[in-house]
Amino acid sequence: MRLPPVKNWSQQLSWSPAELAYPGSEEAIVQLVQRAAESGRKVRAIGSGHSFTPLVPTDDVLVSLDRYQGLVSVKRETLRATVRGGTKLHTLGELLFAEGMAMENMGDIDAQSIAGTISTGTHGTGVEFGTISTQVVGLRFVNGKGEVVSCSPEDKPELFRCMQVSLGALGIITEVTLQCVPAYRLALENRKEPLEAVLADLENRKQHNRNFEFYWMPYTGTAWTKSSNAVSGEQPDQDNWLNKASEYLLENVAFKVLCDLAHAVPAMNKPVARISAASVPTLRKVYHSHRVYATKRMVRFMEMEYNVPAEAYADVFQEIRRRVNTGGFNVHFPIENRWVKADQIPLSPAYGRDSAYIACHVYHKKPFRPYLEALEAIFRAHGGRPHWGKWNSLKAADVAELYPEFPVFLRHREQHDPDGVFRTPYLEKLLGA
Ligand SMILES: Cc1cc2nc3c(=O)[nH]c(=O)nc-3n(C[C@H](O)[C@H](O)[C@H](O)COP(=O)(O)OP(=O)(O)OC[C@H]3O[C@@H](n4cnc5c(N)ncnc54)[C@H](O)[C@@H]3O)c2cc1C
Repeated sequence: MRLPPVKNWSQQLSWSPAELAYPGSEEAIVQLVQRAAESGRKVRAIGSGHSFTPLVPTDDVLVSLDRYQGLVSVKRETLRATVRGGTKLHTLGELLFAEGMAMENMGDIDAQSIAGTISTGTHGTGVEFGTISTQVVGLRFVNGKGEVVSCSPEDKPELFRCMQVSLGALGIITEVTLQCVPAYRLALENRKEPLEAVLADLENRKQHNRNFEFYWMPYTGTAWTKSSNAVSGEQPDQDNWLNKASEYLLENVAFKVLCDLAHAVPAMNKPVARISAASVPTLRKVYHSHRVYATKRMVRFMEMEYNVPAEAYADVFQEIRRRVNTGGFNVHFPIENRWVKADQIPLSPAYGRDSAYIACHVYHKKPFRPYLEALEAIFRAHGGRPHWGKWNSLKAADVAELYPEFPVFLRHREQHDPDGVFRTPYLEKLLGA
C-alpha cells in the first residue's frame, strides 16, 4: 500500500513513496542503503522539500534526516562546527550562536536542511562570499554501496569538491563540517529607489556593502534595495513591532491578497506590480546575523533562478527587463538580483566565475511555463547555469556543455553509486543514465 502523497514547498510536486524512513543514526542509514542496494531498490533523500525541481520525488524509498539533526562537535579555536546532515538552518543558527559563532552568509530563508542546502548550491548575496557550499570544510556520507565515506580539502579533495554540490546523486550526507565566523550583528536597510539610479551605482553598492541585493518591480522604474552591513556598537532591536508588522502584513498577508486578485483578473497584474512598488517598506533593523538573513515566505510560488557571469549581468538584466515589460506575461512578482563569488566546485553554478543570480517567480496557482521558458532562453544565450533547486529545462547534454568538470563528477558518481541506488528518471535526464 502506498503512503499518502508528499508535497514540496510550492505544492506543485506531489508523489507517493513506497516507504518513508526516518533513521536516527548513521548506522541506520547504512543499513537502509545496504538493504536497498541488495534488493535493487531506489533511495532518495529529502531535506525540507524546498526545491522546485523534482530532485527528491521517488516512488520507492524516501529518507528524511529530520530525526538526525544537531551538533556533533565544535572547535572554538578554529571556529569549525560539525553538524548532522538533517539539521535545519534555523536550528543551526541558534546552535552556532550559543557557541559564539555564525555562518558567514545565508540565503533569504532558514527552513532548509544543511545537507539539502549545499546539495543544490544554495546561496545568499555578497561579492565576497561564495555559495553556502564554500563554507563546508568536511563531509561524511553513505554511498550507494552502504559505505561511510569522509572527505575534505585534504582527504580525497576531488571527491570532496564533487560532494560540495551533489544533488543527492552520490550518497546520503550524514555530517557536514562548516567553517564559521565569530557571531556578528547585521544592520539591514530596505529602501525604495529609482531603478536607474541603482543600476548606475551598482558597482559601488556591490563593493561597499557586505550583502547587497535588489528586487525590480515589473513594469515600473522602482527597485527595492536591501543592504546589510556588520555593526558592533548597536543593540539588537528584536522587538521593533513596526518592522515585524511590515514583514508579516505587507510582504505576506497583503501580498497574498494581491496575488489572488491578479490571478483572478489578469489585467490587474500591472496595477498590482505598481501597488507593490509603491508600498516597498523603508526600514532598518539590527539583529544577530542568522535572524536578519531569514525572512518569512508565506506566499507560495514557482521560481527559476539563473547564474550568469558577473560581467554579463548588465546586458542580461536589460534583456530580461525588456522581455518582462513587453512580453504580455501578466506577471507581477519582483525580479531578484544577487551576487556571488566564484568557486571551484564541479557542479556549482558559480564554478570558475564571479556571478550574478537573477530570479523570477510566478504565483503557484498560475501556469509558469510561458514566462519562465521565455526568460530561460535569455539566460541560456548568455551562458547561464540554473540553480539546481529551481525550475529549468536542462538535460545531460546541456550540463556537459556548461560544466567543464562534469566528467569528473560522473566518474565519482559511477564509483559511489555503481548500481544506481540514488538514480531517478529526473536525475537521469539531468546527469545521464
Ligand atoms: C521560499 C524559498 C526560498 C528560497 N530561498 C533561497 C535562497 O535565498 N537562495 C538559494 O540559493 N536558494 C533558495 N531556495 C532554494 C532552496 O534553498 C534549495 O532548493 C534547497 O536545496 C532546499 O533545501 P531542502 O533542505 O529543502 O532540500 P530538498 O529540496 O529537500 O532537497 C534538495 C536536494 O538535496 C538532496 N538532499 C537532501 N538531504 C540530503 C542528504 N542528507 N544527503 C544527500 N542529499 C540530500 C535531495 O535529494 C535533493 O537532491 C529557496 C526555496 C524556497 C522554497
